[in-house]
Amino acid sequence: MTDKFADHLRGVLAGIEAEGLMKRERFIEGAQGAHVTVGGRRMLNLCANNYLGLAGDARLVAAAGAAMEGHGFGMASVRFICGTQDIHGALEARLARFLGMEAAILFGSCFDANGGLFEPLLGAEDAIVSDSLNHASIIDGIRLSKARRYRYANSDMADLRLRLVEAREGGARFVLIATDGVFSMDGYLAKLGDIRALADEFDAWVMVDDCHATGFMGAKGAGTPAHAGVRVEILTGTLGKALGGALGGYVAASAPVADLLRQRARPYLFSNALPPAVVGAALAALDIVEAADELRARLVEHARYWRAGLAGAGFALLPGEHPIIPVMIGEAPLAQAFAAALDKRGVMVSAFFFPVVPRGAARIRTQMNTALTREDLDFALDAFAAAGREVGVLA
Ligand SMILES: *Cc1c(COP(=O)(O)O)cnc(C)c1O
Repeated sequence: MTDKFADHLRGVLAGIEAEGLMKRERFIEGAQGAHVTVGGRRMLNLCANNYLGLAGDARLVAAAGAAMEGHGFGMASVRFICGTQDIHGALEARLARFLGMEAAILFGSCFDANGGLFEPLLGAEDAIVSDSLNHASIIDGIRLSKARRYRYANSDMADLRLRLVEAREGGARFVLIATDGVFSMDGYLAKLGDIRALADEFDAWVMVDDCHATGFMGAKGAGTPAHAGVRVEILTGTLGKALGGALGGYVAASAPVADLLRQRARPYLFSNALPPAVVGAALAALDIVEAADELRARLVEHARYWRAGLAGAGFALLPGEHPIIPVMIGEAPLAQAFAAALDKRGVMVSAFFFPVVPRGAARIRTQMNTALTREDLDFALDAFAAAGREVGVLA
């Protein structure tokens, strides 16, 4: 029995390998940054979510150390038993203020925030209308709720309207539209202006997962709602990307939402409190980020330059303005070969393929960040052109 089970698992793995879908992890020797060391080789890193370059920032390392000095290493408790320190409360208040919301509640990750969000708020008499490209954690969170589920084609506002009509005709009590602020495989922004208008028309709330926007999009980095100039009822996000890149997630919303999640959200109730180092560094990160208009402008400029350089070299891109800039390849093995050819040239990228993107839509997802220099980008453009010719992505 046991051997058969393990044999079966080996078979599944062999299938993944045979299809060219095996993901392999590289061991970075040292801190995350624009340049990293892998196997003793210095590499230019174009695939981190380190949008504002804070992941290796000395100020955050110092803030984390100071928080550990004053508050220790671990909490050894969930929040409601004895795992809440003054700094947890301060960070929740700080996040709410930063995001322009009434309240915020911390989770161990945004995966947990999204996983725990829906079930306490919505019951069988309610409806959730969800974008088809939403992050896996939203999909899982919705599955865990008893609400009726409706799915609309990615950013298709006519389809969203149809699903809202269905939900209302089905007699839904409350309706929540759920969307990523930025769809991370494509770098597309949600059409929040249109979504807000439809939500108002159908008396629905809007929930936005802003993991790939908080800190660098919108005025003061408040995210895609600020970028689009709309209000949303629920915002979820991560401390694991632009806000320092460690870990932690949150829900920001009105007080009753946060208060009820504190009572009922399962990943909040049954999982450990964030450690002081992470909380202290996040407080410092928010101060840095709020004052980082110059970094945000540099990020926009980098994205524009990188996008134009790749397009000029003949690569197939998706249109957009976000610092996520995917280079479309097609089949997974070719994307892997391209990534390997770049690796050889000292450029670290990641090939994305099924199941994280549809079959036949494999890509190299490049991401800009403010720790990169113009020289880095020029070096990378040369490497992309040479590697592209080597593996046949470019003619
Ligand atoms: C990264 C990401 C998450 C997960 O965030 P973690 O804090 O790493 O769990 C959730 N949603 C979206 C859209 C993301 O990009």
